[in-house]
Amino acid sequence: MTEIRKKALQIIKSTKVDFENPHPDIFIAKTLIANASWINTTEGTVLIDTLLTPDAAQIMQKKITETSGVIKYIIYTHHHNDHLGGASVFENDKPEIIAHRYLPDQVEKYQILKRHRARIASIQFNIPFDPERSINYVKPTKTYDKEMAFSLGDKTFELYHALGETQDATWIYIPELETAFVGDLIIAGFPNIGNPFKPTRFALPWAKALEKIRAKKPKMLIAHGGRAVYMNEEVDDLLKVTIEAIHSVHDQVVDYINQDIPIDEMIHLVKLPEHLKNNQYLSFIYSRIEFAVYNIYRWYHGYFDHNPANLLPRPQSEVNTEIFNLIGDSARIIKRSEKLLDDGKAQLAIQVLDILLKYDPDNIRARKLHLKILTKLGDDDFCLMSANTWVYFMEQDRKFLEAGV
Ligand SMILES: [Zn+2]
Repeated sequence: MTEIRKKALQIIKSTKVDFENPHPDIFIAKTLIANASWINTTEGTVLIDTLLTPDAAQIMQKKITETSGVIKYIIYTHHHNDHLGGASVFENDKPEIIAHRYLPDQVEKYQILKRHRARIASIQFNIPFDPERSINYVKPTKTYDKEMAFSLGDKTFELYHALGETQDATWIYIPELETAFVGDLIIAGFPNIGNPFKPTRFALPWAKALEKIRAKKPKMLIAHGGRAVYMNEEVDDLLKVTIEAIHSVHDQVVDYINQDIPIDEMIHLVKLPEHLKNNQYLSFIYSRIEFAVYNIYRWYHGYFDHNPANLLPRPQSEVNTEIFNLIGDSARIIKRSEKLLDDGKAQLAIQVLDILLKYDPDNIRARKLHLKILTKLGDDDFCLMSANTWVYFMEQDRKFLEAGV
């Protein structure tokens, strides 16, 4: 098993939970995939997010019992499973569960797309395909629209709706602690604005939400993906550069759309500004800039790229077969694809090879080369989502080749 697949399985299956306690009243449970936080007040405890699974949540619950009181409220920052999945563990506390009003619809959407969701999860996270994987979902008892606030003991909890990774995002500000809890609006790297497997995400409203958080001048910021705690001047630095990066990528895409640059050219043109390129808060560990470009483009642009050949195209397999028949020579395509790979053009190599593979998917030599190209793409990759994708398809090739032996 490859290292990255091992890491992906670890991320999903691991019940390892670490804890942080950056303030006497703030606790954080950290897992590889997501974090959750709880805040003690003089009249009980408020939990923000619940981790991915009941198993992980039980470990967190043990710590809550040691450090805190009864859970009076749970706040979901958004509907992703790694934030909802552990809630059932706390049902005996009978907490009020608060979420944005769009959250229940989002969870329902997962149900109707269960098979598709299982397939894309198996590629994105490199985990086994399991269409029956269930969601441990406890419905909110209360939802809100734009913003809401409540007090518990000595603390005030201000909840604000944001459009970001999802349309049901909530961030929370506690003025007494001067602390913002931002869910996945911050993920220890360039924000996850574009995901090749998922529906379009928000870019400009994401930046606006971060601007609103920044305007509160928080002394501490707690994120629920990757690194959890940011303190003092780090908070403003982090928010400032993330906001600037989103605006920059967004504006470049808009400019290119206005110039009628096709999307397959645009993804290679958009870059972070020079002074942000190596910024510690903008690494492409999870997402990458090409994904953000596709995402912003899809937000503003229809599918038609202004080439009449692509308005109502024939299936790619049919077109590639026509091209293959003109070439009429598998060996030539393989040779050219090998040359491109040797020249360091792995992406072009895989697209050229596809002319043969769409025509003859069982061609052993082609599948071996396909595996070799994917291995190169995987080896050179730095981003978890794209690296997992190459690895997933490497395994498909491997299975095919082993079956044929
Ligand atoms: Zn999320």
